[in-house]
Amino acid sequence: MIVEMRRGATQEQIDAVIERARKYGFDTQLNIGTDKVVVAILGSDTGMVPTEVFGVLPGVESVTRIMRPYKLASLEFKSEPTQVQVGDVIVGGKRVIVMAGPCSIESPEQLRATARHVKQHGASIIRGGAFKPRTSPFSFQGLGEEGVRLLGQLRQEMHVPVVSEIMDVRHLDVMVEHVDLLQIGARNMQNYTLLRAVGQSGKPCILKRGLAATITEWLQAADYLLAVGGSVILCERGIRTFEPSTRFTLDIAAVGVVKRNSHLPVIIDPSHAAGHYEIVPTLARAAVAAGADGLLIEVHPDPTNALSDGLQSLTFSDFARLMLEMKAIAAAIGRSI
Ligand code: PEP
Ligand code: MN
Repeated sequence: MIVEMRRGATQEQIDAVIERARKYGFDTQLNIGTDKVVVAILGSDTGMVPTEVFGVLPGVESVTRIMRPYKLASLEFKSEPTQVQVGDVIVGGKRVIVMAGPCSIESPEQLRATARHVKQHGASIIRGGAFKPRTSPFSFQGLGEEGVRLLGQLRQEMHVPVVSEIMDVRHLDVMVEHVDLLQIGARNMQNYTLLRAVGQSGKPCILKRGLAATITEWLQAADYLLAVGGSVILCERGIRTFEPSTRFTLDIAAVGVVKRNSHLPVIIDPSHAAGHYEIVPTLARAAVAAGADGLLIEVHPDPTNALSDGLQSLTFSDFARLMLEMKAIAAAIGRSI
């Protein structure tokens, strides 16, 4: 961390910065210029300390970070890619893992038909929302616990792992019982009470990037989960920008940025980013080409009558075609689907 003192800062003020650094167990190095003094704060854990610890001291002009503000999620902490086991499926290996299913579970028939189809075409984890975070409180909120139980039945019947979003710590027990992979939605990325509970649950989780979160903030949230023993798959699902023609703007570069800075697997949700079924395949193909470790895709037997996100849901035939295309792209970069 670099602390730049104001022009004319007193020796007493500089000493206070050095003293505070010592209190945190850091070394310091002084750079005395003709106009200004700069204090370098040295130590491997400076990233964990908020910059305001020094920023509040009198005579300090600015504080700049050098170290990343996350640790357990970083490549410095662990240089080998992490593989996350979900049932008997490995996320973060050579195989690109496709997770697919309806936005919301609407009925046993709808869930079963979708699961059967996507599995037959190469999906290895089934998604299905039971507790739905909807933009409007008047929209369908999901089947709740009944939906979770339907997922539990499906996983037994079809021997396939299932993923669903957890929105409230009060649902943890029922979800842990019936679901293999817990999803933390974009709107809850910084809900630390939820992160702590999920991290301690013993189940792996998907951590979606917040609608307006930086990649650093996302990795800091991942650190929270890792610190309590969690097992994390990151998911880029589009961020809010000034562009209104897609629901969100998919930050495809996030795959490369995560790989450059973290050992955690990263998947892409092209459905919530695109917001439209005609654009979903474009983003899904790009995700595989970019090196994503998996995809999370919404599929519905009858999107025109879906209770949620019908516009971005793929039909069965669209999904089957996309799987063929993605398999070819994966093969071209030495991976499989
Ligand atoms: C979802 O995957 O069902 C969902 C609501 O996604 P997000 O949290 O990314 O909006
Ligand atoms: Mn959805």
